[in-house]
This record gives sequence, C-alpha cells and structure tokens, in this order.
Amino acid sequence: MKAHDGLYIGGAWRPAAGRDEIEVVNPADEQVIGRVPAGDAMDVDTAVRAARAALATWAATPPAERAARLGALRDVLAARKDEIAGTVTAELGSPLPFSQAVHASVPIAVAGSYAELAAAHSFEEKVGNSTVLHEPVGVVGAITPWNYPLHQIVAKVAPALAAGCTVVLKPAEDTPLTAQLFAEAVHEAGVPAGVFNLVTGLGPVAGQALAEHPDVDLVSFTGSTAVGRRIGAAAGAAVKKVALELGGKSANVILPSADLARAVNVGVANVMSNSGQTCSAWTRMLVHRDRYDEAVELAAAAAAKYGDRIGPVVNARQQARVLGYIEKGVAEGARLVAGGPEAPREQGYFVSPTVLADVTPEMTVAQEEIFGPVLSVLRYEDEEDALRIANGTVYGLAGAVWAGEESEAVAFARRMDTGQVDINGGRFNPLAPFGGYKQSGVGRELGSHGLAEYLQTKSLQF
Ligand code: NAP
Ligand code: MG
Repeated sequence: MKAHDGLYIGGAWRPAAGRDEIEVVNPADEQVIGRVPAGDAMDVDTAVRAARAALATWAATPPAERAARLGALRDVLAARKDEIAGTVTAELGSPLPFSQAVHASVPIAVAGSYAELAAAHSFEEKVGNSTVLHEPVGVVGAITPWNYPLHQIVAKVAPALAAGCTVVLKPAEDTPLTAQLFAEAVHEAGVPAGVFNLVTGLGPVAGQALAEHPDVDLVSFTGSTAVGRRIGAAAGAAVKKVALELGGKSANVILPSADLARAVNVGVANVMSNSGQTCSAWTRMLVHRDRYDEAVELAAAAAAKYGDRIGPVVNARQQARVLGYIEKGVAEGARLVAGGPEAPREQGYFVSPTVLADVTPEMTVAQEEIFGPVLSVLRYEDEEDALRIANGTVYGLAGAVWAGEESEAVAFARRMDTGQVDINGGRFNPLAPFGGYKQSGVGRELGSHGLAEYLQTKSLQF
C-alpha cells in the first residue's frame, strides 16, 4: 500500500497548502506505515470550490449516467478488494478475514445498491396539480470515523453522488490510507473532476473548517456525540442541513422463551467483532433472573474463546479509554467474569474480550459508549423491567430481541426506542435504513432513506 503525498481535489492529486503530516500507525504492532498530508482550512476551501464548480453539471447529469459511474465504482472496489482488506488491516488492525468479509465486502454491496437506486429512483413525482422535483441538496461535507473506514465513506459518498450532489470528504486521521484508496477508485471509475474531493487532516482543523464552511450545503457526520453536538449547533446557526450518526448503547434482550445459548453466543460475537468498535454493537445483554447465571457462564466462555482472534483497538488513547471503563465498572460493583483491565500484550493496542456481570442500569458501563470489546450483562425481573432497562439510556441506535416465537420478539421490538432491531439474530441488510432515535443521531443512512437525505424538493404547480 502506498500513501499519496497530496490531496485529491478537482480530479487530481495536489500538494496541501501547508507541510503538516499525519503519521499512520498500525495498531497491531505500533509501527508507522505511512504519512499523509494534514490539510488545513485553505485546503478545505480549495476542495469546496472544486465541489461547487462541479455541482451544476453533475446535478444535471441524467440519473442513468450517475448510476453508471456508481456501477463502475462498485466494480473498481470489487477488483481491488484484497488491497482494501489489506489496507484496513494495516491501519485499523482488524484480522484479515474480517477485513475481507466485512470492511471490504459491505462497501461493495452498498456502492452496488446505490448504482441500482440511482437508476431506479423517481427524481420527479406528480402530486395533484404539482410536479415535485427531487433535486440534489448541493455541496456535501462528509466527516467519517475510523471504525469501519470504507463503509462509513461509501455510506455517505455513494448516496450523495446518486442524488447529484458533489462531496468533500474529511476521513478519520487514524485511517486515511483507506480513504486515499477510495479516491483512486472514484478516479478510476470515471467520476468527473470535482464531484468527489478528499482532504485528509485533523478533526479540529480540517474537519471543523469543513463543517463550518459557508459554501457547504449539507454536513454529514459520523462519530462521537460530543463532536456531533458541536457540528449540529454550527449547522443550526448557519441554517444548513445536517445528518448525524452518533453513538449507541444497544440492548440485546433475551426473553425467557429464547434459545439461550444461541442468543448469548451471537450476542458475544456481535460485541467482540471489530474489537467492539461498532456503534450499533449490543453492548448490554439483558437476561431474565431465572436464566441469569447460566447466561453469564455462557457469555464468559464465549468471550474467552475469542482470546487471540481479536484485533487491537485503533490507537493508544482508545486502549487507555476502554481499559479505564473496565476498571470503572469493577469499581462501581460489576463482577469481572472474562478479560480485564490489564493490556494482554506488550506490543499493540490490545484489550482482552471482557464480560462484566452483575451490571445494574445506572452504572457508567451500562450508560456510556465504551467502543471496545466489553459486554455488560444485566438482570431483569420481568418484561416491563427489561423494557425500562433497554430504553433507559440517552441512545437509541440498534438492538436485538430473542424469543421462542418471532411474534413475541417483534411485539417487544415495537416498544423499543431505537432505529434498528435484529429479531432472533436477523441478518444485516444494506438496504434497511440505519440511524438513531434520541441522541444516537439525526437522519438515516443506506437504501432509499439514505438517498433521500441528499435530496430536497421543489414543487411546480400547474
Ligand atoms: P470523533 O472525534 O468524533 O471522530 C469522528 C470524525 O470527526 C473524525 O474524522 C474526526 O477527525 C472528526 N472530528 C473530530 N473533531 C472534530 C471537530 N471539532 N470538527 C469536525 N470534525 C471533527 O471520534 P473519535 O475521537 O475518533 O472517537 C471517540 C469516540 O467516538 C469513540 O470512543 C466512540 O465512542 C465514538 N465513535 C462513534 C462512532 C460511530 O460510528 N457512531 C465512530 C467512531 C467513534 P479525527 O479523526 O482527526 O479525530
Ligand atoms: Mg478524534
């Protein structure tokens, strides 16, 4: 994998205004694997101008042609799948099989879905004596996190391009190489110059400049609630559209009639995969008191089995943060049944797959997003108690319900304040709207709902 020493703006790689760089580190061995430019406000401005200049032509490009470019992008990503997986493994640290099966494959599916949606979507509709035009919102500022580096980028850029918007992307500083690879793919796919632009850089510098740029029409952000709140406030003050995908603290509700072993094993795998760095992870497992001890034993065994197969977390700061949460959980009275607050290896930012039992709803580890391989197991008395606990956080991004009968799980899921619920271990659907209730965010990604975020309506009356 090679790092570009420029920014991708207006269809070409060009030097950044300043000389600052970001060192890219492999979190598995702490070695520096590349350097990319740390763009600043001037670079963001250049990129926004390029996106603005390209907007009118791209917005007027027939949807079928936009769809063809997205189809070509999908094909380039598919052809470069191994390179994508290798790059994600190098800068995020996830085990290669997971990078192949998820980090590389899911974005290919999502890019493909938007190639189809762009071709099939009605960008015009008749309502009584009106024709309603669905027009692109304009220039999009996209700010993405490192946890699913390519997925987070494609989930914003593909629908934006399908809608006829142009984009400036500021990817996470920890995973800029995947973003550069994506820019190469966009170029190879024949997307016209200026339609997609990449400015690598730091959040408080390039990210903030992009979020506050007066000529950006829509800011789409995925990341922490703290930064999301600031971006939302700035967008509100400027009266511009904003989409926020923030944190989660999702509940995995195991009803008494469920297949306990299956629910626990899938639940543990859900939390441990990607080293717990998944905003929609079911980090709170809720079990009826009669089956609680058995569930804890199963969860501890499942987590122990993960041992060596888990990758590191993304950086030293996240490692310290996650280990700190485990310590805090124990200090507040949780019982450690797997893993613990000691770093398991001398090199690399590893955290042991950890299970905390006897967690009660008000504990910090039951309320705050940890973003590491840490599962909290909580006990409930009855269904009403389970619902109170499940809904008892500021978040509402995802969740799971397990029951003997699907209808019983669905009845419970209807009462959950959350944007997605997997029923008895339902499969990921790249077309299903994804996004949060409550403080988990504003707006939806993926599928036609994700496309709608990048469109605005104009009504013509006859
Ligand atoms: P973050 O700081 O919110 O990062 C997300 C993106 O926002 C990155 O590109 C970041 O740049 C950028 N950013 C940071 N400060 C900014 C600012 N003032 N203005 C504009 N953009 C800014 O998140 P993080 O520090 O990487 O992770 C912290 C916590 O956030 C995690 O522990 C987790 O709880 C949560 N998180 C949630 C998700 C999710 O999918 N919901 C994803 C990642 C993290 P830099 O990369 O330079 O910081
Ligand atoms: Mg940050």
